[in-house]
Amino acid sequence: MKATILGVGTELTTGQIVNKNGAAISEMLLPYGVITSAHLVVPDDRKLILDTLEFAAANSDLIFITGGLGPTSDDFTRDLISEWAKKPLIFDENSWQHVQQRLTSRGFTVKDLQRQQCYFPETAKILKNSNGTANGFQITVQTTYGRKEVFALPGPPREIESIWADYIHHWLTANTQNIDKKITKSWDTMGQGESDVAVTVEDIIKQFGLGLDLEIGYRVHLPYVEVKITYVQSLESKVQTVLQKINQALNPITVLRDFESITDVLAQKTSHVDFAFYDFVSGGFLHSRLSGYLKKYKNWMWKQSQRPLDTDFFNEEENFLALFPQDNKHEKAVVIGHFNNKRFSLSLETPSNYSLMPERRQQYFAEMAMIEFVKRLF
Ligand code: ATP
Ligand code: MG
Repeated sequence: MKATILGVGTELTTGQIVNKNGAAISEMLLPYGVITSAHLVVPDDRKLILDTLEFAAANSDLIFITGGLGPTSDDFTRDLISEWAKKPLIFDENSWQHVQQRLTSRGFTVKDLQRQQCYFPETAKILKNSNGTANGFQITVQTTYGRKEVFALPGPPREIESIWADYIHHWLTANTQNIDKKITKSWDTMGQGESDVAVTVEDIIKQFGLGLDLEIGYRVHLPYVEVKITYVQSLESKVQTVLQKINQALNPITVLRDFESITDVLAQKTSHVDFAFYDFVSGGFLHSRLSGYLKKYKNWMWKQSQRPLDTDFFNEEENFLALFPQDNKHEKAVVIGHFNNKRFSLSLETPSNYSLMPERRQQYFAEMAMIEFVKRLF
């Protein structure tokens, strides 16, 4: 089963906002074994939207459209799907109640314009939006390329998430039973170059994985070299030996497994306590890696600029992670961590081949600070 994800909105094609929905939906589809054929982004333009619907129908079974379900004149996704599916729009009283209730309970006056959001193509299933006003819908469309399942969703990501949990998840669970789903194992390693890691893995595959249909991938995302092995679920028992051998061989250099991220680990372990960050080294890298959590965790503090470098970090009571420079060339840094009466301090040195790349050094220090913190205090 294949999917195309179509993002509609002039704000996307002008670069005002980035198409996050494409990536998010593809990621959510993976566990069901649904593969993404394409991410397409078009402005609020009737012809382009219709053209991309045709393209999507030609290349996939499922079509997700996000955006353009709202009340303004540039929101006409529903009209175009109705035209394309040859199903007239029908007013839905329940959706109108939902719109009125949502708006009045938040102190907004209901305008007639809002009724636009309550029309749905005949035969469509309405997908109630518990996080916003515009409901989405799902419709089976008979196209020149056969029957296609279309999901029309509002633009805002959190509204999509709730419709996903309330409806789409159930539909996918029921309709993807027979797919031989792909499983990917991953190892984030550190300390060896990509080619050395590859030699290790390829040797094992030659010995233990012959004849097995394994997809192997490597990705450098500093300071890690990621190894990925993908196979179909029905091969699960046959690939166990080769996976175990790879796991053993990579174990000494593995920092994280199966797409776990160090920021998630750090966040989980510290989210429930007051926690402070001091960063005089990474030029914002540490902050940008953690910014998603900074919004969520009210007891995290970012204290970078509020404290001079020469304060005595060793007499601290608070839980903190601090990163500060150790030499003038910015090739060494010190990371200090304190958590629940345990602490550590460690000097970090950048790999020699980073000497001409100041940004890479900063990125390295930020990542290492988190890795060492987790490794030494938990
Ligand atoms: P609304 O009822 O909120 O107007 P809508 O279905 O009309 O919903 P749009 O007007 O197209 O959706 O988009 C509303 C907002 O959703 C955008 O301003 C943007 O913040 C966000 N958004 C839309 N499309 C995307 C996308 N592809 N990726 C990330 N965010 C998006
Ligand atoms: Mg809108």
